[in-house]
Amino acid sequence: MAEMQAPKGTKDMLPQDAYKWHYVENTFKDTAKNFGLKEIRTPIFEHTELFLRGVGDTTDIVQKEMYTFEDKGKRSVTLKPEGTAPIVRAFIENRLFNEAQPTKLYYVIPCFRYENVQKGRLRQFHQCGVEVFGSKEPSMDAEVIAFAMEVLKNLGLKGLKLNINNLGCPKCRPNYNEALKNFLKENYDNLCPTCKERFEKNPMRILDCKEKKCKEITKSAPIILDFMCEECDTHFTKVKEYLDLLGIPYAVDPGIVRGLDYYTKTIFEILNDDFTAIGGGRYDNMIEELGGPSMPAVGFAMGIERLIMALDKEGIEIPSNESYALYIGSRGDEAYKAGFKLANDLRSKGVAVEINHMGRSVKAEMKYANKIGAKFTTILGDDELANNVIKLKRMIDGEIFEVSLENIDEIANTLK
Ligand code: ATP
Ligand code: MG
Repeated sequence: MAEMQAPKGTKDMLPQDAYKWHYVENTFKDTAKNFGLKEIRTPIFEHTELFLRGVGDTTDIVQKEMYTFEDKGKRSVTLKPEGTAPIVRAFIENRLFNEAQPTKLYYVIPCFRYENVQKGRLRQFHQCGVEVFGSKEPSMDAEVIAFAMEVLKNLGLKGLKLNINNLGCPKCRPNYNEALKNFLKENYDNLCPTCKERFEKNPMRILDCKEKKCKEITKSAPIILDFMCEECDTHFTKVKEYLDLLGIPYAVDPGIVRGLDYYTKTIFEILNDDFTAIGGGRYDNMIEELGGPSMPAVGFAMGIERLIMALDKEGIEIPSNESYALYIGSRGDEAYKAGFKLANDLRSKGVAVEINHMGRSVKAEMKYANKIGAKFTTILGDDELANNVIKLKRMIDGEIFEVSLENIDEIANTLK
C-alpha cells in the first residue's frame, strides 16, 4: 500500500545514521558559538502571505514548490520552504531591532518544497543556517562567509569551492534589468511559460531558471557586475579584500543569481562538482519590506543532506561515540537483579551499559555484546555475588579487571 510508505521526497533518518546528523549539527553549533551566533526557533508553518512577500512571488519556491493548505479556521498557511522570512518576521514581531546590534542568529530546521525529486533534492530536507541583522559593513558579509568555511573545515570537508557575486541594489538594478530585457527580447518566444511571465516582472529571475532552453538562452546574457553603482562596487571590492585577508579562496561567478528574490549586493554559493551545498547573501531590504525598520541583513543556509553526501563522497570518517562501555550478562535470578541495579547505577555515572532484556542464554548474550561493540563485558553469577566482586573483561585484549561490586565509582572509572 503506497499510503503506508513515506511520502515521495521524504526520508526517515534511521538510527544507524543518527551519528552523521549529530556530527553535522554539533559541529555547526559548536562553530556558531565562536562566532557569537545564538539559536532561534520559529514555527514549522507560517501565514502563506509571509512567503509571498518575503521569498518573492516570481521565485520557483512560491510559484511551484510550496506546501500550502487551508487550516480548519480557513487561514492559508504554508510549511516553511526556507528559514529566512520566518526569522525576519520573528525579529520584527519581537522587536529585537531595539536591542544593541548586530543580531546574530543561527537555526537548524526542516524545509518543505514540492520539488522534482532527484538525488539530493527532497521534498522535506534540512538546513543549518545563519542570519545576521543590523550591519551593512562588508566585513559582516566576509564574516558570514568565513563562518560557513569554518564549519566546512571543522567537518573535515575539502572539496567544496566558494563562488561569489554581487547582485547590485535597487539603485543599479533597473539599468541592468533594461539591458537584460533587451538581450532576452530576441529569444522571448523560446523562453518557458514561467519565464515569459518573469520577463516583465523580474527578468533577473530568468537567469536562475532550471529549464534547459532558458539556460541555453541566458548563457551569453549581460552580467550585472558591469552595471553596478559606485556603492555596490566599493562594497564588493571590500568583501573580496576581507576574504583575501582571511586567506579564503573564492572565484567570482557572475552567473549566480540564487533562487530567492530578496538578495542585494553580495551573494555566494559553496559547491562541488555534483551540487550546491550552501547558498546565501545579503538582503538589505527585506526587514523593511516585511514591516520592520530599515535594517541591513546577511545570511546563508546549508543543506544537511547535501553536507552528509559530501562527507560520504570525500570518505570522511565521522567519529561515532555511540558505543556501549559495558554489557552485563548474568546466570540466575539473583545475579540478574544485581546486574539490573548495577546497570542503572552506572548509567547515572555517565556510563553506557546494556543488559539482557531478551531472555538470552549466556552464550547468546556474549554474541550480542560483541555485535553491539561493547568495550567491556562481564558475567555476574553466584560466585561474584558471594565474593562481592565484578570481573570486567576488556574485549580488545581480553584483560580482566577485578573491582568491588559495591564500588560504583571504581567500576565506572575502569570502564572509561
Ligand atoms: P537549488 O539551486 O539546488 O535548487 P536553492 O537555491 O533552491 O538550491 P536555497 O534555497 O538557497 O537553495 O537553500 C540552501 C541550501 O539548501 C542548498 O544549497 C541545498 O544544500 C539545500 N537545499 C535546497 N533545496 C533542497 C532540496 N530540495 N533538497 C535537499 N536540499 C536542498
Ligand atoms: Mg531550489
